[in-house]
Amino acid sequence: MSGFRAKTLTKPIHKWAKRALPSLSPTEREATEAGEVWWEAELFSGNPDWTKLTDVKAPLLSAREQAFIDGPCQELCALIDDWKINQIDADLPEEVWTFLRENRFFGIIISEKYGGLGFSALAHSEIVRFISTRSVAAAVTVMVPNSLGPGELLHMFGTDAQQDHWMPLLASGEELPAFGLTSNEAGSDASAMIDDGVVEEGIWQGEKVLGIRLNWSKRYITLAPVCTVLGLAFKLRDPDGHLGKGEDIGITCALVPTDLPGVETGRRHIPSATMFLNGPTTGKDVFIPLDHIIGGTDYAGRGWMMLMSALAAGRGISLPSMGCAATAMSAHTSGAYARIRQQFGLPIGKFGGIQEPLGRLAANAYAMDAARRLTCAGLDEGRSLSVISAIMKCHATYRMRDAVNDALDIHSGKAVIDGPSNYLQACYRAVPIGITVEGANIVTRSLIIFGQGAIRAHPHILDEMKALTLEDEAESLDAFDKHFWAHVGHSVKTFFRAFGRAWTGGRIGPAPAAGPVTDIYRQLARWSAAYALTADFAFLTIGGALKRKEMLSARMGDVLSEMYILSAVLKRWEDEGRQKADLPVVRYNAERAFQRIQTAMDEVLVNFPSRWAAGLLRLVTLPGGSARAPDDALTEACSDLLYEPSASRDRIVGPVYGGCTRDGIATLNACFAAVTKAAPLMKKLRSAEQSPDAALKGGIITQVEHDQISHMQALTEQVVAVDDFSPEELAQLYPALKTGRMLTKEAAE
Ligand SMILES: Cc1cc2nc3c(=O)[nH]c(=O)nc-3n(C[C@H](O)[C@H](O)[C@H](O)COP(=O)(O)OP(=O)(O)OC[C@H]3O[C@@H](n4cnc5c(N)ncnc54)[C@H](O)[C@@H]3O)c2cc1C
Repeated sequence: MSGFRAKTLTKPIHKWAKRALPSLSPTEREATEAGEVWWEAELFSGNPDWTKLTDVKAPLLSAREQAFIDGPCQELCALIDDWKINQIDADLPEEVWTFLRENRFFGIIISEKYGGLGFSALAHSEIVRFISTRSVAAAVTVMVPNSLGPGELLHMFGTDAQQDHWMPLLASGEELPAFGLTSNEAGSDASAMIDDGVVEEGIWQGEKVLGIRLNWSKRYITLAPVCTVLGLAFKLRDPDGHLGKGEDIGITCALVPTDLPGVETGRRHIPSATMFLNGPTTGKDVFIPLDHIIGGTDYAGRGWMMLMSALAAGRGISLPSMGCAATAMSAHTSGAYARIRQQFGLPIGKFGGIQEPLGRLAANAYAMDAARRLTCAGLDEGRSLSVISAIMKCHATYRMRDAVNDALDIHSGKAVIDGPSNYLQACYRAVPIGITVEGANIVTRSLIIFGQGAIRAHPHILDEMKALTLEDEAESLDAFDKHFWAHVGHSVKTFFRAFGRAWTGGRIGPAPAAGPVTDIYRQLARWSAAYALTADFAFLTIGGALKRKEMLSARMGDVLSEMYILSAVLKRWEDEGRQKADLPVVRYNAERAFQRIQTAMDEVLVNFPSRWAAGLLRLVTLPGGSARAPDDALTEACSDLLYEPSASRDRIVGPVYGGCTRDGIATLNACFAAVTKAAPLMKKLRSAEQSPDAALKGGIITQVEHDQISHMQALTEQVVAVDDFSPEELAQLYPALKTGRMLTKEAAE
């Protein structure tokens, strides 16, 4: 039957699909297949099996990992003066570099057998997150050696000899790594790089050996100015055929000691005034032996796949953790400040205008930390999550930008005036760094999340594409026939699911028994079906051209991302024991996600090239009214969670460093505690219409209570104050300001 079906029905479709479906070059195929799919594939199936989510073990730190955060991480933060790093020293102090090395901060992911810490993805993420709450410069310094740089690459692909040699040196910090991919020509498009390596004979440690002659010019490379070993990506050529892989072998990754003749490092960039070490590096006719190729010659030319695979871990941890830290700090400080700062006789957190951004902050902090933890749980199951790590990198950093902007609006002038006690400015300046590095977010959002997700997470597309690339025509048709008809069966089921769930307002979707949030699971199942159907129609009607429809792809990526983040919110609520007090942030996140999903789906259909398909999809998936954004009462309830100290507030904010008096956070924390403690006394004074002194005299309050109020008032003054500088102090920061006044042009001459 299937032979007859293949020859009659499938054959013309097979012919059409060969033209219509996106074709994959071997490199693209390798990169697409790098990493694996997980929970996002369930969302893509149109019918998520919730047990696969609820069965994921709640992420937990081991006792050793927790002790590291409570010990060396706290100590490190206490050593850091972020203002001094960024404004005066332009580097971490020597003491901090030594502390980082001695405590193995550069070997978080390196196994204990090599002298590293051998920590889980969750611990890695918690460490980066915690340090980021004190200093982005310090956090980035720790991040790089623990991601691509090239620890992760060596961990995944290094030969035994490479691992035995390099891992102990990297773990101890004796060797400091950097990873160089980006160059002038090759930013987002790594294939445009002209940095090259030619296979030829050369002299290595006094002997003639076969190796690679390298020439490169890289920029933006974190730790390049001080690194002792550079993980280098370049295009390898073998004109004399030594390796038997053809002349143009392709992107290759190798280890280049920076003390070799021809290597230039040392010059620095200034990335958004955040003074971690970042700069250009060049190499002229640098010679390395072949065994410096990461993974050995078998991996020559497979650099792109290696980078994509290794990024799956680093990209899911480093910048998302930094993003979550900035979001948590924004939520923490804004809630406290909104309680402390008074205008028009009331704490500003009582005004709806402030409650709107504060509520959003609470929801974002809860959601992104939920997504970070779920991602770490997946990574700790040993999965290489390529699509999810792209979602995390993009959205944790975008939401960080929203959060920091909200925090700046709430703090107003206090956040704009820079100085050692401004706890938000360094974070604000670092926002674009998080968005730009490890691949700019626009590319991630417009090309990777749906582009890669659609192919990887779809239950049948990748198999169909693989079948189409088989050289033997009969074999290709046979394999295609099998996967295509399975796809048709899937699409028919998805059609009826999408229709039934949409037309019942999401009331009949599958859901676990999850108490007051059961309906959220059902709604999510509704959108999952609508999404799967729309993705299928996009393949059917747009085919290979879908790759170039970036605005459509970005919106489809946004829907997948919203569904992933909301799944993580539900999982977190479950893992934390269904905390009733946290329900407002769970519901806020759900309502906002459904509204965003509906808007994105509507915009996809408005711009869908095939009008008949758009009409049909609209009829099936988008009947009835539009989803509402969270209402004002819900927003206020979320805002209140940050405005008062509570267990719920502590859960939303999570662990943040609060021990520094110089950056204003310790004072803010003390003041927040004092203001909330003194609230009943202040109420007493208001109803008696008395000042504290008058109330003391009149016996309305005791001396102890009076002291409590004075203490609170003194702290409030400190919190509300901003830094100012004498001309002499300013001249230290800006040498051109000799007397505190900018020299006139004439005087300078
Ligand atoms: C502080 C900092 C640290 C860094 N650290 C490192 C490091 O350690 N190692 C390293 O190798 N690199 C590093 N980078 C480089 C970083 O990964 C690149 O900046 C990034 O990949 C983007 O390249 P680009 O800046 O040249 O932007 P471009 O590629 O010039 O892109 C410009 C804009 O066009 C968009 N764009 C490009 N192509 C497309 C497309 N097809 N569709 C839609 N939009 C598109 C981009 O999203 C971006 O918005 C770092 C960068 C910075 C700023």
